[in-house]
Amino acid sequence: MTVRTRFAPSPTGFLHVGGARTALFSWLYAKKHGGQFVLRIEDTDLERSTKESVNAILQGMEWLDLDYDQGPFYQTERFAHYDAAIERLMEDGLAYRCNCSRERLEALREEQMQNKQKPRYDGHCRNRQISADEPHVIRFRNPESGDIVFQDHIRGEVRFSNSELDDLIIRRTDGSPTYNLTVVIDDADMEITHVIRGDDHLNNTPRQINLLQALGLPVPEYAHVPMILGDDGARLSKRHGAVSVIQYREEGYLPEALLNYLVRLGWSYGDQELFSTEEMIRLFDLKDVNRAPSSFNTEKLQWINQQYIKECDLQHLAILLAPHLQERGIDVEVGDHLVAVCEAQRERARTLTELAEISTFYYEDFEEFDPAAAKKAFRGEATEALRAVSAKLAALEEWQREPLHAAVAATVEELGVGFGKVAMPLRIAVTGGAPSPDLDLTLRLIGRETCLRRIDMAISFIESSNDPWKTENYTLSLSASSPICL
Ligand code: GLU
Repeated sequence: MTVRTRFAPSPTGFLHVGGARTALFSWLYAKKHGGQFVLRIEDTDLERSTKESVNAILQGMEWLDLDYDQGPFYQTERFAHYDAAIERLMEDGLAYRCNCSRERLEALREEQMQNKQKPRYDGHCRNRQISADEPHVIRFRNPESGDIVFQDHIRGEVRFSNSELDDLIIRRTDGSPTYNLTVVIDDADMEITHVIRGDDHLNNTPRQINLLQALGLPVPEYAHVPMILGDDGARLSKRHGAVSVIQYREEGYLPEALLNYLVRLGWSYGDQELFSTEEMIRLFDLKDVNRAPSSFNTEKLQWINQQYIKECDLQHLAILLAPHLQERGIDVEVGDHLVAVCEAQRERARTLTELAEISTFYYEDFEEFDPAAAKKAFRGEATEALRAVSAKLAALEEWQREPLHAAVAATVEELGVGFGKVAMPLRIAVTGGAPSPDLDLTLRLIGRETCLRRIDMAISFIESSNDPWKTENYTLSLSASSPICL
């Protein structure tokens, strides 16, 4: 048997992390067993389904590199299959027309609620032979007795009693088929062997098994994945921050880090935290998925992302960083220089947005020197040190790390001061105070012209802040407790 799994989102919103995790589990399970993974778009709800959502889902899948062997199939293109199945059920007496009015159903519901019964259709039209010419829905004739039992890969044995189920509507008055019917036909037509989905669908499973059996179709195996909760214990939703997969891309997460985080959300392998895709495929098993809901933890996601930023291939990192710099208005060339910037800065960032932020000074002049850093570095003889080092740097033939280091060292020697007296103002002058690597590497990556220009800017800044004739350099401090009385 070839394992075939599917991901079957309804395009009524973006691809959220819960959906992405379900897709990942299905994808991993298929890959692990040398099987196939199918993408099916469940777009029969014409009012709520949108083209934008379809695109967002496809875009999310592509970004996460969750490739599918077949699809995307669209349910709206498969109505003929659903109609044929409904006809068959009608012919076999396993479905019937119902014309119960909304008022009747409402009254029935009220009455059942008052009697503390579970609201369910009472089978009023089961034997009424409603004409096809009047408005009607079609209901499935659910077995009235017996149990539906299945072995869920995550929850173990699950049992439902037919007495709890009612005759489900499989075709609406407007002729459109309903979710449980379409899923059943598609899973069978697409030869799905393992249905892996959110446990919000658990209650649909006995209905779907009954339908499959009525149609003489094979029943797949099931795995119902527990939901994801936010940090506060409530079901994960928009109010917990980013839940759209694409939003994580915008916030600077690596797709492989998000996948790694998602696989660990409800699944574990010892206490291992980091998994390559190849390892995930090899080690993942449905039986190790937790039965309890898991909580989304942004700090953990950031930690995993940071590990990927530190360890991943530098060229790959440069490519991923480029759009984040672009977002900041930096038209960067993805080449050796950006790769070197990534190498120099990557230890200091948890996300690509942070990495872009702390790397901006390599490409763009900053608006101002960081006040705290400037206060510390631009004291005493800072201008002399900057003038002296600037002259040495300007004279360099080669703007490489070694000569750069030598120029700073020679300035230190010439002035007869400690290394920091030159290095500190120089670093703040060229970086503005942003976190930066070794000074010679920093200078090398910023480039000659920019460094010399920024040193001049720093000198003017210091001189103007020390100008005794500039009144803005004075801050007025009055004592409230002992005012001078005139
Ligand atoms: N279309 C359903 C949803 O988005 C999933 C159906 C299924 O997996 O069976 O919730």
